[in-house]
Amino acid sequence: MNNIYQRTLWGSLSAIPLLATGQVVIPQQPNIVIIVADDLGYGDLSCYGANALETPGMDRLATEGLRFTQGHCTAATSTPSRYSLLTGMYPWSNQNAKILPGNAALIIDKEQVTLPKIMKQAGYVTGTVGKWHLGLGDGAVDWNNEIYPGAREVGYDYSFIQAATNDRVPCIFIENGKGVGLDSNDPLYVSYQKNFIGEPTGKENPEMLRMHPSVGHDGSIVNGVPRIGFQTGGKNAQWKDEEMAELFLEKAKAFMRKNVDKPFFLYYGLHQPHVPRVPNERFVGKSGMGPRGDVILEADWCVMEFLKEMDRLGLTENTLVILTSDNGPVLDDGYKDDAEKLIGSHKPAGPYRGWKTTMYEGGTCIPFLLRWPAVVKPGGISNTLVCQMDLLASLSALVGESYSERTDSQNTLLAFLGLSSKGREELVMEGMFNYAFRKGDWVLIPPYTFGRVYELYNVVKDPGQKENVAEKYPAILRKMMRRLEQLKRTSGKVTVY
Ligand code: CA
Repeated sequence: MNNIYQRTLWGSLSAIPLLATGQVVIPQQPNIVIIVADDLGYGDLSCYGANALETPGMDRLATEGLRFTQGHCTAATSTPSRYSLLTGMYPWSNQNAKILPGNAALIIDKEQVTLPKIMKQAGYVTGTVGKWHLGLGDGAVDWNNEIYPGAREVGYDYSFIQAATNDRVPCIFIENGKGVGLDSNDPLYVSYQKNFIGEPTGKENPEMLRMHPSVGHDGSIVNGVPRIGFQTGGKNAQWKDEEMAELFLEKAKAFMRKNVDKPFFLYYGLHQPHVPRVPNERFVGKSGMGPRGDVILEADWCVMEFLKEMDRLGLTENTLVILTSDNGPVLDDGYKDDAEKLIGSHKPAGPYRGWKTTMYEGGTCIPFLLRWPAVVKPGGISNTLVCQMDLLASLSALVGESYSERTDSQNTLLAFLGLSSKGREELVMEGMFNYAFRKGDWVLIPPYTFGRVYELYNVVKDPGQKENVAEKYPAILRKMMRRLEQLKRTSGKVTVY
């Protein structure tokens, strides 16, 4: 047994009689894989109650692992949520942790502690594939040269990523800091201010589109789809949306194959079901729910294929796999793809109120599945409050590493492994226009621009947040407001409300 691992695991888990009495065999350093879908809702998986969609790939992780009903991200939008997962910091601690354009500078400081850096410190090989959306470079990126700082400076030995999202330029892949397929005879230029002379746009050339915008998304046309922002050049490097899923999958599998003999850490960012929803033709029409349902089936197929590869490599037993989403679901997110019209009885946020961008549970209570056959019992359900932000401290403890930086991440490893019902006691969740504050069973939403009253919900008794009980429980309201104010003072950077 690896000494560091033994020391840490016994150190951190010694309170658990089950382990202390040796009833659980403690394995060597596990591989760690975090699969983060983009805008996948709590109710989008059949293991979370979806009837209109079948997701056997993701469900497999629930059957063979642990399913959390109170798994949270810190924010209801991508960049701030992903920032927290990787750095263990609340998004408000960094004023740049807002939804970023595709040419934004990297928002994670080169010196900052990150989950992949901790893993590297512990001797892991680290990789990231798929969606990035944390900024790249220093704010004036030359896409035709090495992009610095980037994924390597965040702690990844290997990276194959898109700069931001499917719907934002630049629509190219970046492997280890270099634009894939770029040719010096046709350099790529990107702007979020103005179009380049002679380039068609969604606004000026709707006749060239195979998918039309509903809001925004009227910039450069790439692969027949209009995007946010403008780009010119780099024609041979432009991605094809319908090939993206399989390409990311292949890169994720290849990373695993290459590192089969070493402990590895992989962050696999599925680009689905974020817009534009353009599945491979094999999935077109398969869900009966239009492109949004089809790309969820495609994402699920990717998860299944990835897990099968893990089986083939003999890695399943001692690999800790987490599947989650960066924020809640959304239907119309800027393209006319019939997501609302074809939704039928399907409830993407499950029992929860709200969506992506909102501070209700539907915005931040997301699918959260954890499988580690060597340690975690199969088929479990945990109602413990856990948060992606706590993976930094928890997985650091798991691999025997520490860091000196002060972060907002708490070590809730035992809760993540289903060995304790003690998770996070309080959590601030960021919506696009406001914050929500969870403490125990209660969620407080202070007044803000679009909601003039105090809102208070008991989310254990009332998960759908139907009854605002602020007037009924003034003492709880006051206590929570005081605590939230205290948290705001501690960080000193929450200024939204
Ligand atoms: Ca997202």
